Amino acid sequence: MKSTSKKYDYVIVGAGLFGSVFAREAVDKGKRVLVIDKRLRTGGNCASEMRDNIDVHLYGAHIFHTDYEDVWAYVNRFTRFNNFINSPVANFKGKLYNLPFNMNTFYALWGVTTPQEAHSKLTAQRAAYAHITDPKNLEEKALTLAGSDVYETLIKGYTEKQWGRKATELPPFIISRLPFRLTFDNNYFTDRFQGIPQDGYAAFFNRLLDGIEIKLNTDFFADRKPLGQLADNLIFTGRVDEYFDFRLGALEYRSLNFVTETLALENFQGVAVVNYTDAETPYTRVIEHKHFRADAKSAQTVVTKEYPAEFVSGAEPYYVINDSKNNALYAEYKKLADAEKGVLFGGRLAEYRYYDMDDVILSALQEAKKIR
Ligand code: FAD
Ligand code: UDP
Repeated sequence: MKSTSKKYDYVIVGAGLFGSVFAREAVDKGKRVLVIDKRLRTGGNCASEMRDNIDVHLYGAHIFHTDYEDVWAYVNRFTRFNNFINSPVANFKGKLYNLPFNMNTFYALWGVTTPQEAHSKLTAQRAAYAHITDPKNLEEKALTLAGSDVYETLIKGYTEKQWGRKATELPPFIISRLPFRLTFDNNYFTDRFQGIPQDGYAAFFNRLLDGIEIKLNTDFFADRKPLGQLADNLIFTGRVDEYFDFRLGALEYRSLNFVTETLALENFQGVAVVNYTDAETPYTRVIEHKHFRADAKSAQTVVTKEYPAEFVSGAEPYYVINDSKNNALYAEYKKLADAEKGVLFGGRLAEYRYYDMDDVILSALQEAKKIR
């Protein structure tokens, strides 16, 4: 890339993980970078805020986990991680089950105490669905994987609340991410590396973006033309359909409402995350933030209920919906994106992809490698 008379080499829309990692790499390669974000803080959905020595995850529980050694080494340049292991509990109509699906779960469900007993029980449960050889939707996938007891108790209610759709209308891959094992192991993730930034996500982003020019409270679409003229290269991490003025139609998203309160209690639920898997409880998860960090001593506790919500105009597009209809529409937007000169579309919203944090970092690092 040639240096021009323009003030910056890159304008980066979005100070989330993709934008921030790309910005760090570009600046470290001597490029002039401006990062903008419409929010009032950096971090995108990973943002957190320290309250009374408790790091409050502002947009839902964010547990860093990865199997990529290089990504793990990269993030450790900007923070130390604690040894948090996500071991959520499911609450179904008042009864508790360990997640992900493991021997503790099967013991609570069926009273089985050995892997052999659990295996027999699962085989019998799955037998009813043996005719489904190629699961076409999430319900079929869950039933062939685990049978009806696990599905009805731990999956159906949660999934249908979360996505606002019948499990028969959702793609199977959504639950492919959930481990299923015949050991007494409550670790939700299977990756080798896992943890929470010891001094919080805000401190992590401050270090990642150290020395980089940032303009918050700045919506790209409010000043699109002048912002676009500041540099020859734009990195865009917002909504791809919005970038193209919805000219092919609007993509669908799922939103959330977070209701956070401080309780005059030392310990509310004894674990960081409790999933409410029945259909009647209106929220999907309750997060008790202090449990992300064993050193978060406080006489109080901060608790967030996560309510799934319809995505309406003005709401936050937290989750993309990778069903066939939306994937097909995105494929058309992708053609426009690929043809857009001088613009890189990266991250969860711009690539319309259910990305975990480590995959977003990997993708930003790979894109940044192309900077000359
Ligand atoms: P974002 O974080 O969404 O950042 C995009 C940024 O762009 C935002 O700050 C936004 O304000 C800004 N922006 C958008 N449009 C504009 C505009 N027009 N003008 C200016 N700025 C704009 N991943 C994990 O690995 N572990 C977890 O435990 C985990 N938990 C999650 C829980 C929830 C509830 C959610 C929703 C996601 C979770 N994730 C988790 C995924 C993780 O949040 C994402 O992988 C990551 O944040 C994506 O980074 P990003 O930069 O692509 O997008
Ligand atoms: N899921 C479920 N029951 C649970 C937890 C998850 O059925 O107790 C399903 C649900 O469909 C969810 C998917 O598994 O959308 C992925 O769960 P994960 O915890 O990975 O979701 P995320 O943290 O990305 O929201």
